[in-house]
Amino acid sequence: TSFAHFGFDEDLMQTIVKAGYQQPTPIQCQSIPVALQGRDIIGMAKTGSGKTAAFVLPMLIHIMDQAELDKGEGPIGLILAPTHELANQIYAETKKFSKAYDLKVTAIIGGAPKGQQFKTLRKQPYEIIVATPGRLIDLIKMKATNLRRVSYLVLDEADRMFDLGFEPQVRSICDNVRPDRQVLLFSATFQKRVEALARQVTKDPVRITV
Ligand code: AMP
Repeated sequence: TSFAHFGFDEDLMQTIVKAGYQQPTPIQCQSIPVALQGRDIIGMAKTGSGKTAAFVLPMLIHIMDQAELDKGEGPIGLILAPTHELANQIYAETKKFSKAYDLKVTAIIGGAPKGQQFKTLRKQPYEIIVATPGRLIDLIKMKATNLRRVSYLVLDEADRMFDLGFEPQVRSICDNVRPDRQVLLFSATFQKRVEALARQVTKDPVRITV
């Protein structure tokens, strides 16, 4: 399989080539067609498998379609990750590909100055937010942004988010996005709590293991 098989347009194909990606990884081969159909995914995959592009590339297509239908405010795509380091990596990867469509992405990550993030969110509209759960909740409480328009939600490394005590924040975020959203949940392990969340927040999911 090549990236061209997914039906991506010229603009997106160019950013993929520019990123130096020649062939999709197994998780990308399995996830991208499913995500492009609008289906929910429960994926068992580790960092290093290429899972970031597996959820980011279909997200960009989703946002281009959705932005036409919903001209409201706030992000359309939301990616949650457990740690500053992972969130920053995802942010960098997302930024590379979002250039294809000139979509705006911002990182709302704990540890960085909150006031700055507040101002950024207030000043400029963003289609995509990459966040750690605690900091995102703080900024929502401060009314810097809202999740009413989120229709593509990614929960990355769900097991680690739970290990770090973010279960209430993750649940609260899931409760506040659009009820008809598409959800992609990735985890390296599926212990009871993570499996329960996966069942609760996804609809008729496709399970993918690599
Ligand atoms: P991830 O598992 O998403 O953190 O990706 C791990 C690393 O592999 C990152 O540096 C990606 O930029 C890179 N990568 C992801 N997909 C591909 C691909 N199809 N071809 C080459 N490199 C890739």
